[in-house]
Amino acid sequence: MAETEIRARFPRPKPWIEAIHAYVPGKSTGKDGQPLIKLSANENPLGTSPLALAAKARVPALYPDPDSKALRARLGDLHGIDPARIIMGTGSDELLNLAAQGYAGPGDEVIYVRYGFAVYDIAARRCGATPVVAPDADYGTDVDALLALVNDRTRVVFIANPNNPTGSFLPKGDIARLHAGLPSDVLLVIDQAYCEYVAPEDEDGAMALAAANKNVFVTRTFSKIFGLAGERIGWGTGADEIVSTLNRIRGPFNVSSTGQAMAVAALNDLAFVERCRVHNRDERARFVDKIVTLGNYGLRPLPSQANFVLVLFEGELTAEEAFEGLAGRGYIVRWLPNQGLPHGLRITIGRRHDTDAIAEALREMAERT
Ligand code: PMP
Repeated sequence: MAETEIRARFPRPKPWIEAIHAYVPGKSTGKDGQPLIKLSANENPLGTSPLALAAKARVPALYPDPDSKALRARLGDLHGIDPARIIMGTGSDELLNLAAQGYAGPGDEVIYVRYGFAVYDIAARRCGATPVVAPDADYGTDVDALLALVNDRTRVVFIANPNNPTGSFLPKGDIARLHAGLPSDVLLVIDQAYCEYVAPEDEDGAMALAAANKNVFVTRTFSKIFGLAGERIGWGTGADEIVSTLNRIRGPFNVSSTGQAMAVAALNDLAFVERCRVHNRDERARFVDKIVTLGNYGLRPLPSQANFVLVLFEGELTAEEAFEGLAGRGYIVRWLPNQGLPHGLRITIGRRHDTDAIAEALREMAERT
């Protein structure tokens, strides 16, 4: 057999899988591998509830409960949801992927916004669906632009609220309008990874939509305000039909025993969550105020309801230079050229002295350029 024929017989990935650009996680080291203070992955700078940390030690190393019963019961209690309508995931990432896989395939379209969370693109492509990107409105989510793209092939619409990496937030009325404008056979996935950072009186109504409609799926995570990113625990809720569809295709033991125990304990320490929300609200406001004063150097912080701020560099100092300058001072933030934002740095709100040091460093660099 000719050599070329032998080569032709290697397994070939599906073309839609080959088209995927792998997710790039937030880094924790600089170019030469030195550890940096990590403000690149929107983790909780205040750590994890001590109750959750204490629960970790008490878990046997056997297979986990495949149905996360205790955790779903606690979540159901807390949110007034029948636990049968709650599904757990290996992070909310797993659930976002399952939502696309369960409802879209080759020939179908999946819509999300430009400057949205990178996983939506991967989730759409890996099931062979066609990703369709809606234009933004000054970096925010534009409901009319999303609705204008809906057609007979649309199967799933993803939005994050607050959105990553912009931090923008759609109020309840806009979320309701988006849902009302979608055909009832299009699944609306509302990704609430950062919702605990929003003031309770401003909540976006996603949970009520998921409770009352057959085409809304809401995802949440323990990775952000609960500080349990390493345990990989997310959850989602929607109609019985959605939850049972996704349960058929999830990993059978997708949430570890330790993760389940820690998450239950974390839900028993909501005072910790409230402390983290208030810390983030106050430090974010202080940080934004400082960056606003650098407006004459072209720095523009976008309004954020999340635990990070996207700062645009529209003057002499470039985002890349600022990124390198911060790394030289011991901080790693997120520079986003791969997401169409070569002029943006997404900066996680850290402890007060770190956030202050970053603002100060940006001032120094802007003044020097
Ligand atoms: N949604 C959004 C908007 C996110 O930013 C993230 C984390 N970067 C996730 C979902 C996924 O988080 P996890 O899988 O840790 O729950």
